[in-house]
Amino acid sequence: METTPRQHRNRFNTLIDPAAVERVKQLVLCAGKIVITCHVSPDGDALGSSTALCSVLRSLGKDATVVTADCAPKALQFMPGVRDIVTATRQPDRAAELIAEADLVFCLDFNDLKRVDRLTPNFEQSRARRVVIDHHLAPVIDCDVLISRPEVSSTSALLYIFLWQAGWARKLGRASAACIYTGMMTDTGNFSYNSNDPDLYLIIHDLLRRGIDKDNLYKLVHNNATQGSIRINGYAQYRTQYLCGGRVALIMLSGEELREFEYSKGDTEGLVNVPLTIPEVQWSIYLREDAKDLVKVSMRSKGAFPVNLVCEEQFGGGGHVNAAGGEYHGTLPQAIDYLLQAIPGYENLLE
Ligand code: 5GP
Ligand code: MN
Repeated sequence: METTPRQHRNRFNTLIDPAAVERVKQLVLCAGKIVITCHVSPDGDALGSSTALCSVLRSLGKDATVVTADCAPKALQFMPGVRDIVTATRQPDRAAELIAEADLVFCLDFNDLKRVDRLTPNFEQSRARRVVIDHHLAPVIDCDVLISRPEVSSTSALLYIFLWQAGWARKLGRASAACIYTGMMTDTGNFSYNSNDPDLYLIIHDLLRRGIDKDNLYKLVHNNATQGSIRINGYAQYRTQYLCGGRVALIMLSGEELREFEYSKGDTEGLVNVPLTIPEVQWSIYLREDAKDLVKVSMRSKGAFPVNLVCEEQFGGGGHVNAAGGEYHGTLPQAIDYLLQAIPGYENLLE
């Protein structure tokens, strides 16, 4: 059933170079086995775009599988198709086998093969054709077709437009539409940033017509706190340090604190955003001591302050201007010292 308003056709038809869309269609047509992958520690957008594409390819009769470095967070396990993902942490041999046998690989929501973590060598060695669909800046993945649109707020929205242009949007059922919506919602903070593009709402209109319950998707993603998660977030917020005249916030959780609060993966999702609700705060930093000698770094900013630059230059990471991450190899106190020495070098970029 055709449910899409006519405006879609006009607005979306040329967003992606039609020749690139045609090349991807040809590659899909010729491929026997297809693997779809996304970045390590997958978020709603990585999972939403990957599972939606997988479902569409399967409904086109293709042998497609999503293979990722590690598992989806608990809060996103409700997403249709997430439980079928082959993860290298749980099924290392199966993941390696699928990649080795693939004729075509889709790389979704990342711009550098390093981002697939332990699977990087597998994908580097693969002779499969490669298609990248992504919205991070400056992609450096060697590929046959590159669909890179950093101005689009989520890979899920970009994937929708790709599917539309390919004539495959009609294959989106309620489940895959829910995956795309979840990706769009999570990468825009529930449509609170990067979300003024009217096209987003044309896409949502179509996804609603395909039967998604957007109000319930919001609840599924966000209303899953536990007493423990509320406690650890409260503690971390209480202890947040404010620097540079209140323009920079620093949240820290040590390994010992994580154990004390019985932290489980995903418990502090969104915590790094909280200080930005203070009008003066432009740069929020979260350091979490995930393992001995490994500190996960997560940053958010407002306006032009480029946290991707800081994460690239200081923490071997990257991301977007306003949301980025990286790692520090050492203890939490060492990470803090290192960060405090680096901050003055970026103070001039604050407003
Ligand atoms: P989060 O802070 O939620 O982990 O990640 C925010 C953004 O930064 C995401 O777009 C993610 O892709 C990127 N990001 C997070 N961690 C890393 C990292 O270690 N390396 C790179 N290159 N990007 C990261
Ligand atoms: Mn994304």
